[in-house]
Amino acid sequence: MMRAAVFHGPRDIRIEEVPEPDAAPGHVVIEVSRNGICGSDLHTYVGSSTGGAAMHLPGVVLGHEFAGTVRELGDAVDDLSAGTVVAVAPIEWCGSCWPCRQGWPNLCRRLGIYGGYRLPLHGGLAPMVAVSRRAAHPVPPGLDAVSAALTEPVAVAVHAVRRAPIPLGASVMVLGAGPVGLAVLQCARAAGAGVTVATDLSSARRAAAGRLGATAVVDPSADRPVAAMRDLTGHGVDVVFDTTGADAAVEDGIGALRQRGTFVSVAGWQERAHLDMGRLMAKEIDVRFTMTYEPAVDFPVAMQLLATRAVDPDVMISDHIGLGALVEDGLEELLHHPDRHVKILVDPNRP
Ligand SMILES: [Zn+2]
Ligand SMILES: [Zn+2]
Repeated sequence: MMRAAVFHGPRDIRIEEVPEPDAAPGHVVIEVSRNGICGSDLHTYVGSSTGGAAMHLPGVVLGHEFAGTVRELGDAVDDLSAGTVVAVAPIEWCGSCWPCRQGWPNLCRRLGIYGGYRLPLHGGLAPMVAVSRRAAHPVPPGLDAVSAALTEPVAVAVHAVRRAPIPLGASVMVLGAGPVGLAVLQCARAAGAGVTVATDLSSARRAAAGRLGATAVVDPSADRPVAAMRDLTGHGVDVVFDTTGADAAVEDGIGALRQRGTFVSVAGWQERAHLDMGRLMAKEIDVRFTMTYEPAVDFPVAMQLLATRAVDPDVMISDHIGLGALVEDGLEELLHHPDRHVKILVDPNRP
């Protein structure tokens, strides 16, 4: 047996004994080094009634942002060996529905995510977890098993930037400087952005964006984001990425865009948005959405960016906690003191 964080319902996540996983054919067992706490885990924890939070299955081990070391190989796995460090792409797709046949696994009609989203797949908030061979991505040289736990949120950013290619020297505004926002900021720069601006209500997150070399950092409650972008670009920003899912931020983003600019939604929407379609129309704004990532394409890029420090893992990690502290020092802390944190990583081998 082992101790794991099991979801039983809203505000009812228990650290309890569960059986250790076996390596089924085509699967591997991974010893988890770290599992990051995601904004979507907070929605699951508080029991948001809309969006993805309502899709979590009770009785399943939580956690979808994890990396670790391969410990056991199931039958038919002959291209991995024990001891290999891997980042896990935690989505499972059917391979046969129409989106899957187009090569869009993230849009699979039967999509499931490790950690109990829609399918009973145990996640990474446990010392050991079993995943399919295709979910395990060996890390490149330069990326350690701890920083590799950031691969999943960075892959979200990589996918978003691929969905809205950034012309060399383009100006980019990122709404929200949480883990995904900070990753988008760095990916945009790696893709060739000239001016990069981040906004966030949290001073810790603005400071992180500053340390990562953002051209400007804006506090939307005190500064005027739209005017700030005009000052910087003269005519408005080329591409806006929204990672907040908040109407007020989206409003700022639309106002800051230039004519025929691109608005990319990278947020986990929980509520209906109130969009000013007239303003989008008057500037002929292109609006694009992103839904997780395509593992085969986005994971290798995300790992390479982390390995070369084009995306700096250290600035994005604000704390490491043990499994037993998940609720108190992880979920509750992020709910009540978002100002103090960026990404909290859980070490499931530590009590
Ligand atoms: Zn996540
Ligand atoms: Zn499918």
